[in-house]
Amino acid sequence: MRHTMMPYELTLTSIFNRARALYSNVEVVTRLPDKSIRRRTLGEFDLRARKLASALRRAGLSKGDRVATLSWNHDVHLEAYFGIPISGCVLHTLNLRLHPDDIGFVASHADDRVVIVDDVLLPLFEKFRGAIPNLEKTIVVRLTDAPIPEGTVDYESFIDSGDATESLPELSENDVMGMCYTSGTTGKSKGVAYSHRAIALHSLAAALADTLAISRSDTVLPVVPMFHANAWGIPFAAVMVGAKLVMPGPHLDAISLLDLFERERVTLAAGVPTIWLGILEALDREPLRWKLSPGLRMVVGGSAAPESMIRAFDKHGLRVVHAWGMTETAPLGSVSHVPPELESGSEDDRYAARAKQGIPSPFIEVRAVGDDGKVPCDGRTPGELEVRGAWVAGSYHQLESERDRWTADGWFKTGDVVTIDALGCIKITDRTKDLIKSGGEWISSVDLENELMGHPAVKEACVIAVPHPKWAERPLAAVVLKEGQVATSDELKAFIGAKFAKFWVPDEVVFVTAIPKTSAGKFLKSALREQFRGRT
Ligand code: AMP
Repeated sequence: MRHTMMPYELTLTSIFNRARALYSNVEVVTRLPDKSIRRRTLGEFDLRARKLASALRRAGLSKGDRVATLSWNHDVHLEAYFGIPISGCVLHTLNLRLHPDDIGFVASHADDRVVIVDDVLLPLFEKFRGAIPNLEKTIVVRLTDAPIPEGTVDYESFIDSGDATESLPELSENDVMGMCYTSGTTGKSKGVAYSHRAIALHSLAAALADTLAISRSDTVLPVVPMFHANAWGIPFAAVMVGAKLVMPGPHLDAISLLDLFERERVTLAAGVPTIWLGILEALDREPLRWKLSPGLRMVVGGSAAPESMIRAFDKHGLRVVHAWGMTETAPLGSVSHVPPELESGSEDDRYAARAKQGIPSPFIEVRAVGDDGKVPCDGRTPGELEVRGAWVAGSYHQLESERDRWTADGWFKTGDVVTIDALGCIKITDRTKDLIKSGGEWISSVDLENELMGHPAVKEACVIAVPHPKWAERPLAAVVLKEGQVATSDELKAFIGAKFAKFWVPDEVVFVTAIPKTSAGKFLKSALREQFRGRT
């Protein structure tokens, strides 16, 4: 039997046209580098993105050609997020926090033909532009009054060469809409090429009530950069549902963000835990300074959200929504909400559930696979998390050497070590390479970090394995104290000792002024290991 449904391609063009038809008055607000505010609407965005799409085609680019961005989160980057894919070209977001040599590698590997770059980022761009062999055009977005260099094109004049009334090309849902490279802490970045279909479905999933629940009534501020994992797909989902967007530009310190949350009545923000830890510290210091939207939701992902942080934000009336994902999963994989089964249970159980990474979104399947290749299912035995689904990468872009990241039966090996409980809730205990094996027993660095970050004097804590002659490995904790706070190593060990088995307690707690971070703001454990190499 044949189905009787219409053929209908799941593309970004459909999301884009919907916003045009329904939400042209919705605001897109940008805070510029000088901290002034620029207000545009989705109507203006629609017009400008169409002009961009047309200008790209008139400039000779065709389907599948890569157009890169090197930009902060702002309204023009949003135009590129749509204007590039609806033209049939591929949006390639360059991660400006990577080392210039690595950005050059990524831009060359992706074969970028055009780069759209913020004027404030031109000095960085200059450091790697020579590494892009087929670069034809550099288009500069002017966020300041500085003149643009010779040999580049002003973004405004570029889009003026396009015609907003030109019809958009018919696209297939299997066409590539964009690319992101992993910001791997080891080895070279790996590219993932997303289909229109994957991102269209991902956008729908992000709007579900039990995931991020992004809706028309939200004012959404993605702190997570648009150059990292599609800003978690939030710009696409926000345009799809007509949510007001607030783009923070380059100022991502706690005070600047809180000012913007208050000023624009933000209801949903998203970022990595380090951002939220800074915000929490600011709120604790001056709890009455900002009048935030009651129930402001903060999507936290990228690394584990410590339970103590979730509790602490609740005291300020702000709700942490904990999500897990990766570049290879576009990135939304799972989101944590308290399941109804636990609503009548203890408060501790509810918090413990929220600190887990949650249940998989529809169209994402998960399993935890043990060392022996068998699938553990008792909820206690950790195994490597494997995923498959509608927006999970099936390979890397032109990189055969990594084929073994996929199993013979088609699952992607995430490298995260997890347990999955009876309710299907995922709990990450570590990255496979970060687990500590002491005397043959596993110790979770994530659990130790989360506990330490629950201590009132601790701002950040990062736990790594150091070699040990007897136990093979022992945990070492590097701790950053909050401003003006004191704590001793013994005090912190006793604090952890109250919660964990004795052998879990780090042999050493060292105090540092900062923990090295990856380009995405995650703890860079490899750098810390290097720093403490030889420590036993
Ligand atoms: P990336 O591709 O840079 O987004 O990194 C993906 C990795 O970040 C995952 O494989 C996890 O190791 C980690 N990660 C993301 N979200 C979480 C989370 N909620 N809790 C713990 N780790 C996370």
